[in-house]
Amino acid sequence: MKKFVKHLGLVNKHRFEVFKLCCKCGLFWRGLTHDLSKYSPTEFWESVKYFSGDHSPIVESRRVNGYSLAWIHHKNRNKHHLEYWFDRENAQQMIIPYKYVVESLCDKIAATKCYKKKEYKPYMVLDYYNRVDCHIPANPKIHSFFKTVLTDLANNGEKYVLNKKYLKQKYNEIVLEKN
Ligand SMILES: [Zn+2]
Repeated sequence: MKKFVKHLGLVNKHRFEVFKLCCKCGLFWRGLTHDLSKYSPTEFWESVKYFSGDHSPIVESRRVNGYSLAWIHHKNRNKHHLEYWFDRENAQQMIIPYKYVVESLCDKIAATKCYKKKEYKPYMVLDYYNRVDCHIPANPKIHSFFKTVLTDLANNGEKYVLNKKYLKQKYNEIVLEKN
């Protein structure tokens, strides 16, 4: 019961954080509908069972079972995850549309804030990306976008990065290769 309340609280808190960040980037609808599948039984109950306040229950389920059904369910329904767009090994991975890349960026920042709480510093998002997310098979241009933007976030802060003008410019420049 305690885990139920805590997990629900964390999902709501995370979604509200993503919503605020997405709004700064002009993506109201992406923010409002972010991660709704977390309320589905498959995702919700596994995450309650493996709840821990300081890391993802998905990681915990993998540690115990070797896999996470909640994650398989989640990444197949949510376009803000690089894994949604994954074809297969040795295929050329797709270019992810702008709105989902930005939603994904907001997700990464919000997740770091939720777990680090008062210790949160912008460079921690880049750190996590360099340790974990950069190994996800995705189009190199998408990775290059995240690297650039998260480095700018670490050096110049949220205001510099989380706005339509900056993000559109970087996406056009790096992902679409046009100026
Ligand atoms: Zn998600």
